[in-house]
Amino acid sequence: MPVMVDSRNWFPKVEAGRRRVLPGTQRKGVWIEYEGRLLLDFASNDYLGLSFDKDLQQAVWDTVREYGFGSGASRLVSGDHPLMHSLEKALAAWKGYEACLLVGSGSLANMGLIAALVGRHDFAFCDRLCHASLIDGVRLSGARLVRYPHLNLEFLQAQLAKHPKGRKIIVSDGVFSMDGDCADLQGLVRLAEEYDALLVVDDAHGNGVMGDEGKGLSDLANVAGHARLIETGTLGKAFGAYGAFILSTEEMIESLRQRLRTMIYSTALPPCVAAAALVALRKVREGHLQRKLFENIATFQAACKERGLPIRPSPSAIQVYPVGRDEAALERSVRLRKAGFWVPAIRPPTVPENTARLRISISALHRKEDLVALTEALT
Ligand SMILES: *Cc1c(COP(=O)(O)O)cnc(C)c1O
Repeated sequence: MPVMVDSRNWFPKVEAGRRRVLPGTQRKGVWIEYEGRLLLDFASNDYLGLSFDKDLQQAVWDTVREYGFGSGASRLVSGDHPLMHSLEKALAAWKGYEACLLVGSGSLANMGLIAALVGRHDFAFCDRLCHASLIDGVRLSGARLVRYPHLNLEFLQAQLAKHPKGRKIIVSDGVFSMDGDCADLQGLVRLAEEYDALLVVDDAHGNGVMGDEGKGLSDLANVAGHARLIETGTLGKAFGAYGAFILSTEEMIESLRQRLRTMIYSTALPPCVAAAALVALRKVREGHLQRKLFENIATFQAACKERGLPIRPSPSAIQVYPVGRDEAALERSVRLRKAGFWVPAIRPPTVPENTARLRISISALHRKEDLVALTEALT
C-alpha cells in the first residue's frame, strides 16, 4: 500500500482567523451574488465597469468566431497574432513609451521582469508594501532583497548609498493596492539616476484611473518614458479584461523578448482578449468613465466626512476604513454583508499585523445612492 502524504501535516496549521475561503460568488455588473442574494459589490478592481461593457463582449465574440479561442502556444512558437502587436503599439503610444511587451498576467509580468533584470550579485530595493508578485520576482532572481519603509525615500537613499557594488533596481507599486496611496515617482526616478539604478513601477491600480486619459501615475509625475523607468500594468483591473504589459525603451523590450521566461515559456493570451483590451483602451482614453469614477469617489468621500467616518483619504479608487484587529474587521465585513454590501476585510499577511481594514473600491458603475447607502451602513 502506498503511504499517502497527509497535507494537514505537510503544511503548518493555518490559524482559524486567517483561513482563506473561496466565496462562490458571481459578479453581475455592480452587483455580486452571494448565497442567493444580490449585494452591492465594493470589492472588484473593475474601476470603470468595463468587464461588463457590451462593446468589449462583442469584440470577444467577433474575434473568437474568426480566430478561435485559445492561442495554442507561446507567442514565440505559433501563438502570436497581429492583434497582440496592435495592442502593444497602442499601449506604448498611450502611456508614452517606445515599446511594450504583453505578458499573461500582472503577476507573471512582475516575476518574469525582475528575474530577467537582476541576479544573485545584485540588489533589489522594494517598498515594504509593494505587491507580493514583485517580492516573488526578487526571490526568483536570487538578488538581495532590501525593503524600505513605505514611501520612505530618505531610508531608501541611505540603503542605496550603503550598497555601492552590484547592479541595483528600485521596485515599487504606483498606486498601492491595499492602501490606495501613491508612490513619489519623481523622487524615485531621481534616486535611480543618482545611484545608477533601474526603477520598476507596477501601476496596476493607476492605469485607467489616474492622470490625463487614465495614463497612470507616471503621466501625472511627468516621468513616463524615462530611460531608467520600466513600468508594468495589468489588463485585469480598469481594463476589465485579463493579461498584462511591460513598458520601456525599444532596446530594453527587445532584451526582454529574449529573456522574459514567464512570457517565453507560457501560452500567449487568447487573441480575443487582445481584441477586448484594444476596445477597453479606446474607452479608457475617451475619459467619460474616468470622470464618472472620480465623481463617485468625491461623493463617497464627502458622505464619509459628513458622517465623521474615519476613511483614510486617498486620491485613487481604493478607499480604506482602518479597523486594526483581524476579528473586528471580519465582524464589520459580515455585518455589511447582512446589510447588502460586499466589502472585504483585508487581514495579515496581505497587510502588516494589526492593520486589518475594510478595503472599499469605488467603480464608475456605482450610483450615487449606492455610495451614500454604504456610508450609512458603515456608520
Ligand atoms: C492585481 C495586481 C497584480 C497582479 O495582476 P494580475 O494581472 O491580476 O496578475 C500585480 N500588481 C499589483 C500591484 C496588483 O494590484
